Amino acid sequence: MRLDTILIHHAQEADPATGALVTPIAQTSTFVQEAPGVNKGYDYSRTNNPTRETLERVLAALEGVGRCAVFSSGLAAENAILQSLCRPGDAVITTPDLYGGTFRLLDRVFGPLGVSHRQVDLNDEAALADVLADGSARLVWVESPTNPRLQVYDIARICEVASGFGVPVVVDNTFATPVNQRPFELGADLVVHSVTKYLAGHSDLLQGAVLAREERLFAPVRFLQNATGAVPSPFDCWLTLRGLKTLPLRVERHNRSALELARRLTGHPAVSRVHYPGLESHPGHAIARRQSSGFGGVVSIELAATEAETRKFVSTRRYFKLGESLGGVKSLVCHPASMTHASIPPEERRRLELPDTLVRLSVGLEDVRDLAEDLVEGLDGAFRARQPAGACRTPAPS
Ligand SMILES: *Cc1c(COP(=O)(O)O)cnc(C)c1O
Repeated sequence: MRLDTILIHHAQEADPATGALVTPIAQTSTFVQEAPGVNKGYDYSRTNNPTRETLERVLAALEGVGRCAVFSSGLAAENAILQSLCRPGDAVITTPDLYGGTFRLLDRVFGPLGVSHRQVDLNDEAALADVLADGSARLVWVESPTNPRLQVYDIARICEVASGFGVPVVVDNTFATPVNQRPFELGADLVVHSVTKYLAGHSDLLQGAVLAREERLFAPVRFLQNATGAVPSPFDCWLTLRGLKTLPLRVERHNRSALELARRLTGHPAVSRVHYPGLESHPGHAIARRQSSGFGGVVSIELAATEAETRKFVSTRRYFKLGESLGGVKSLVCHPASMTHASIPPEERRRLELPDTLVRLSVGLEDVRDLAEDLVEGLDGAFRARQPAGACRTPAPS
């Protein structure tokens, strides 16, 4: 079965009890047993549930491995990986640009438990080999492309170096999705997803997933799923199964519209910089071309404007609704400095090159012409606001 067919047919035969074409929602906490311990393979929905099991089988087939456990959010999935692998004295090696919630989990939850984290430019092979040689490294955490600056890391190269030291590599594949990027084929040991974003795709639920190549790494994650209990509801699993059926179509359109907008915004006088791996000017373009088949639906831009003008720009768009999150059918705009990355102190934000005029766009599935008009209108306004009085371009009389 090829990917599009997997999402529609794999593990989704008609229900043997009723013939229902679509996977039923097993909205139940418990299952009736014939005798103590004698049941149909399910006893309690925290441990296992038929709808959730179907979703896990589909996601496992989608990433091309046999093992998947789903969680009630992306961060719950990340927590299970860290809890299963890390002990006091261990270190987690990450990219410098990292989803804010992942940074907070490492820094504020695992830090006090004695697990340290080190941010290293993972494309610098010598620096990576250096920290791995230290002996305390327990896990390499790769996000690519990163949030919010869309930096690209060479996953195959990182996996090669890390495997030389026997250190597993986890790839957060949320931004790329398995449609654009196949981490297990590039050598990753674990993949984590915020299913909340593209996989579910409609901004109507929270969910996470852990996928693993080997049982050795997967078994403790599966154990924690039941033992700590951060499981998604059967209804949310059903919504994800529904969303997944159109994932390849959605991602294709996200890719196309984002590239078109990135090109369109390049050169606008109110835009000083466009971050999108699909642009030839992007420093990670060559790696992105090699390791992914599409460049994703997120574009970040830096405005040639003040912070106040930037805040006005993000607050007044018609279709790009101001909100955290990404990956849904509806476009979203976010101001990282005051929203997703506000917990990073200003001087640290400067070091990480996260200026107050950075804007992150999650390009949705609306007609790209409407999206372009919405952005250009706001940018023209920001540009005019920067011109000295009297120098405004006035529209020609019609
Ligand atoms: C949103 C996100 C997460 C966290 O997922 P939640 O479902 O919000 O808990 C992790 N990684 C990346 C890259 C994300 O964008």
